[in-house]
Amino acid sequence: MIILKIEADLHTHTIASGHAYSTVEELAKSASQRGLKLFAVTDHGIALPGGPHLYHFTNMGVLPEKIHGVRVLKGVEANILGNGNIDMGRRLLHKLDFVAAGLHSNTGHNFKNMKEYTDAIINVMKNPFVNMITHPVNRYFPTNLERVVLAAKKYGIILELNAGSYCRRKNSSRGVKEMSIKLAQLAQKHHVYLSLNSDAHYHDLIGDVSALDFVLNETQIDEEIIINSSAERILSFLDYQKEEKKSAV
Ligand SMILES: [Zn+2]
Ligand SMILES: [Zn+2]
Repeated sequence: MIILKIEADLHTHTIASGHAYSTVEELAKSASQRGLKLFAVTDHGIALPGGPHLYHFTNMGVLPEKIHGVRVLKGVEANILGNGNIDMGRRLLHKLDFVAAGLHSNTGHNFKNMKEYTDAIINVMKNPFVNMITHPVNRYFPTNLERVVLAAKKYGIILELNAGSYCRRKNSSRGVKEMSIKLAQLAQKHHVYLSLNSDAHYHDLIGDVSALDFVLNETQIDEEIIINSSAERILSFLDYQKEEKKSAV
């Protein structure tokens, strides 16, 4: 039985998302108690019903760099829209520390088949400010995982294995074990970074990725490709990307 200790959680939500129940302060306190070194605050982009106003993101600079001794990355989980773009412009994206993007219901997309979903995700990866695709495993938003992994390699994007997908409410849509295993195997094969995140909508869940233990037990993935097993690895990855992107605003 392999138990992975992650140092960082790159996907968490606060009350600003409208359907999550903790504050940044509460997340930071729990992160500290769990021994995390870093977490990203990634509230939903504005296209999701109940999501925050853009001002939430423009003002994130007021948050300290560390809270309760834990490094806090100011981020977003942007929505992938029907036109294959995301719901946040580059001038704002470049001010954030961490940009995740994912497909969600009720955000205006109406893709018809696997090719359209895959093309939309790949198009979003071309945005130089996007760092990670959230929950690419989804029964209702099917993608060609090999194309997604190869594009992630090409554009330097982290792919997420999402622990929250295995809670009872989401099990039927995102909690597809065989697809999570396939994603991990493809990432290993093509040397693409994975991130195992909680997608916590309540502070007590931050850093808990135990729902993904089955992936580690049923695959042979190296710890080095799990980018959030080391906070330092994430920070140097983001620094490298920032250098690459300076001219893209
Ligand atoms: Zn999401
Ligand atoms: Zn989320």
